[in-house]
Amino acid sequence: MNSMSIKPISIRIEASTICQLKCPCCPTGRGEIGKFLGVGYLKFEDFKMMVDKNPWIRNIELSHKGEMFLNRDLLKIIKYAYEKSIILRADNGVNLNNASDEVLEAMVRYKFNSMQCAIDGATQRTYSIYRINGDFDKVIENIKRLNHYKMQYRSEFPYLNWQFIVFGHNEHEIKAAEQMAQELNMTFQTKLSNNDSFSPVKDMDLVRKEMASGVASRAEYKKKYGKSYSQRTCLLLWSYPQMNFDGRMLGCCENYKGDYGNVFQDGLLECLNNEKMNYARQMLLGHEKSREDIPCTRCSVYKGMNEMGIWIKKEDIVRKDLEMLNGIAKRKDMIRDTEKAGEGQVR
Ligand code: SF4
Repeated sequence: MNSMSIKPISIRIEASTICQLKCPCCPTGRGEIGKFLGVGYLKFEDFKMMVDKNPWIRNIELSHKGEMFLNRDLLKIIKYAYEKSIILRADNGVNLNNASDEVLEAMVRYKFNSMQCAIDGATQRTYSIYRINGDFDKVIENIKRLNHYKMQYRSEFPYLNWQFIVFGHNEHEIKAAEQMAQELNMTFQTKLSNNDSFSPVKDMDLVRKEMASGVASRAEYKKKYGKSYSQRTCLLLWSYPQMNFDGRMLGCCENYKGDYGNVFQDGLLECLNNEKMNYARQMLLGHEKSREDIPCTRCSVYKGMNEMGIWIKKEDIVRKDLEMLNGIAKRKDMIRDTEKAGEGQVR
């Protein structure tokens, strides 16, 4: 390993590029993900091989462009990760329309860390305008099932967050959704849409009040903070690299049109430290010019950074690494505390 090499303890592996919904602003819903990344799911044997060959990995994010719960090997993956003391997360997001009771129970039993549920409304009518084919009542029922098992096992895991993408058609239901989230023991977070042309926000003042960043659009965010809403995504190339279900190393969660080799064939550290990946990281630091074969070259986040001359800073990378380490340490403390009290044991 040279001074530029990385060996992160956290990685992201797409559990499934399959999704049953047709959300208008999502590249999966539009069929683009299937075209570039294939339609499929992470097989247990591949997950096991990856984990066994890279035993320093401590933390894995499973959700990405598709629906994690459509992975047929999910139960085995959850159990194996627990046996290997690996933290699993679905913080990127799930729609939670279809989840078997067996899997929901396993998430609690094997201490799946956390999950973000994408629910953009407080009624079926509003929810289904964006989550096309989605069933609001089924999602709420699945959350209640999880809460039931959390009570049964006396466990805090998984932590649940309600993510609400704000549009013009649902802004009037933000408060009601927040109230429901509270009743369901979930945290609540609003998010800006990535597409201003689909159902744009109508009441800008209301949305500014509801957003932690105090802005009502990505353009306002750029103006207020002097950088793109998604610039933090680039840090994943150092701290939390994204892989496709078939082993292709994608680098970050925005890129799906090019890769940096195949982890299942070439090895994880080889893909993370090959010439192409190192060059991409140097581009993001502003140390190298754009290059045609690097996926970032065609990315709007990179184009924005290039335009403004605002690059990833070394301190941002260190901060992100620390954030990840703190998250893992906090989780260990919680498990120790519950187990000391004789609660939440795997039965
Ligand atoms: S520039 Fe785009 S593709 Fe490259 S790391 Fe950043 S978000 Fe990902």
